[in-house]
Amino acid sequence: MNNGQKKGKLFVVAAPSGCGKSTIINSILDDSDMPLQFSVSATNRAPRDGEVDGVHYHFMTTPEFKQAVAENKFIEWEEVYPGRYYGTLESELRTALNRGENIVLDIDVKGAMNVKKIFGDDALTLFILPPSIDELRKRLVSRGTEDPSVIDERIAKAQYEISFADKLDKQLVNDDLERAIINTRRVITDFLNS
Ligand code: 5GP
Repeated sequence: MNNGQKKGKLFVVAAPSGCGKSTIINSILDDSDMPLQFSVSATNRAPRDGEVDGVHYHFMTTPEFKQAVAENKFIEWEEVYPGRYYGTLESELRTALNRGENIVLDIDVKGAMNVKKIFGDDALTLFILPPSIDELRKRLVSRGTEDPSVIDERIAKAQYEISFADKLDKQLVNDDLERAIINTRRVITDFLNS
């Protein structure tokens, strides 16, 4: 029951690694004019420097994650990289939506398609594209955090993910970060007002 209060809407943002997705999402969440909350996923990967449990992710052990899967606690979950699981906790998401909060999900493209199937018109799915595969490779190389074999893997995965881009509601190219942020904000605002 939600006392007749309007239910919140969902924004699902997917993109290959290196497309600026986290930067775009963080910029929009930091904008106090945007009434949005971040959905904290669960994962069995280790926290990176600066990541806080319950803020960036709910960090779980692999047995804990598998237990949560067995107990149907996830609305969707994926093995995004071999042995690395990520999932959206159902109770948290539904409680927030019932409170009327608008929620941003930063999840992979398959998760995005699954959320769309479940939430239909209450969800808007966005795919952020790199200007080109060559440009994506340049960005991954200049980030300097992955070695060359990992970069090849990321590129192969990016090409696979991009093949699903047109299954999402909107596609935005991040050729210029400021412009990509403005365009994402506009798409979200239009959906909130629809
Ligand atoms: P990272 O380890 O870099 O934080 O995330 C790796 C990938 O997992 C990103 O594409 C991110 O969007 C995706 N991801 C994070 N949380 C979830 C989730 O709850 N479900 C799914 N399907 N993917 C997720």
